[in-house]
Amino acid sequence: PYLNTLLKQIYDEFYVSDEKVDEIIKGFHDEMRAGLDEHNVLLPMIPSYVTGRPTGKESGSYLALDLGGTNLRVCLVTLNGDSTFDMIQQKFTISQEAKDFTLFDWIAQCVDIFLEENKISYDDFTKPTPCAFTFSFPIDQTGIARGNLIMWNKGFSVPNAVGRDIVTLTQNAFTRKHVNVKIVAIINDTIGSLMASAYTNPNCYMGIIFGTGTNACYWEKVSNIKKWSTGNLDRNPDEMIVNMEWGAFDNKLQVLPFTPHDNKLNRKSQNHGLQVFEKMISGMYLGEVIRNAILWLVDRRVLFGGRSSEILNNAYSLDTAYVSVIVADDSPNLDEVRMFIESTLSIPGTTFTDRAVVKNVCKLIGGRAKRLSAAAMCAVLLWRPEVLDNPITIGVDGSMYQFYPKFAESLKVEAIRVLGKEKADNLNIILSKDGSGVGAAVVAMTVSKPA
Ligand code: ADP
Repeated sequence: PYLNTLLKQIYDEFYVSDEKVDEIIKGFHDEMRAGLDEHNVLLPMIPSYVTGRPTGKESGSYLALDLGGTNLRVCLVTLNGDSTFDMIQQKFTISQEAKDFTLFDWIAQCVDIFLEENKISYDDFTKPTPCAFTFSFPIDQTGIARGNLIMWNKGFSVPNAVGRDIVTLTQNAFTRKHVNVKIVAIINDTIGSLMASAYTNPNCYMGIIFGTGTNACYWEKVSNIKKWSTGNLDRNPDEMIVNMEWGAFDNKLQVLPFTPHDNKLNRKSQNHGLQVFEKMISGMYLGEVIRNAILWLVDRRVLFGGRSSEILNNAYSLDTAYVSVIVADDSPNLDEVRMFIESTLSIPGTTFTDRAVVKNVCKLIGGRAKRLSAAAMCAVLLWRPEVLDNPITIGVDGSMYQFYPKFAESLKVEAIRVLGKEKADNLNIILSKDGSGVGAAVVAMTVSKPA
């Protein structure tokens, strides 16, 4: 009975009601409005300078660079003009020396090797190959191919880069190495996701990442972006992609269903008080919230006979990939859950009740992640409800979307409830694999050949 009382308490804390979803959607709209009106508010709502929609008929070869925390990917994407494309790519592991000192020259060297090894020759040296750069560090973007580095993270510390334009730094290194490539755009991974899907589905309206972190972007009317002036553009576009940085939603802690287990995670995290929405739903954090809840039950001696293990005691030891496996285990004795607890966590001799409790806690907290993810997507769709009068596509990437059980279905179910069946039927949610390659190339293409 004590176990049931505690489980009920956890259930009440993590349960997200329809009313809560509606409240969250309203909260999103308030923060989106503020972010579009003013600088330096909670939700950054960053204008991307991407203004041209692809039609799928474009052709040509474009380079894409994708700099993440561990690898640099160099891709050559050939758009075939019929919504199909071919791609060759090469991955280079970023050395500590590059992270600390030589990054930009190292990037130029990698591009040089890639072009050489793949025998990509230039027909015409006056026409450099256009390239888009997916750059996963915070920048203050001031043009489609201009952005000053705000700070390094993920263990990078190249000197004399903070405050300077990343495109100039990279382009100068290309010049030093005689690499005949011109960076025409700098983007992030959500924009890559949107644009990669848009090449095959030109009605693509939104790009979302549910991976290590979470973020989204969508097409906004330029007249709605009040904080921004068109001074930096040579045309007057009607629409522009806005990078929401929605992981920062509710950093004031007003709307989201915070539990003591979320607060514990937040308090101990490096970016305390930041990215609080991301901390409830993304792959990096979901396992850790669940670990906190499991330990809370262990400490009250209702789980594993009150025993933990060194592994379970370690922060971030419960990888979200395991959560997917646990939730999907429908075997009568919960054999996968047993394997996880007894082998992976090294807690021997589980009872069926132990395993059932672990599975239920995973389902509950993972279910909250799905519900909140769907709420965020619906908030963006309801922001401009007229876009749902016609069929639209949403391009989604990331392991949570791909592998968490029934993640995609959950987005659809919530969309039907919130938007109504008729509008939800206009929604085509697709996996947008590899946006930072194809999507970046598509951006390079739209920039090189403005619509
Ligand atoms: P990234 O977002 O870094 O590009 P991914 O989309 O692959 O990369 O996301 C990695 C995150 O997804 C990690 O936090 C990992 O724990 C989590 N993850 C990996 N596999 C799964 C899975 N099967 N189910 C749920 N989450 C997963």
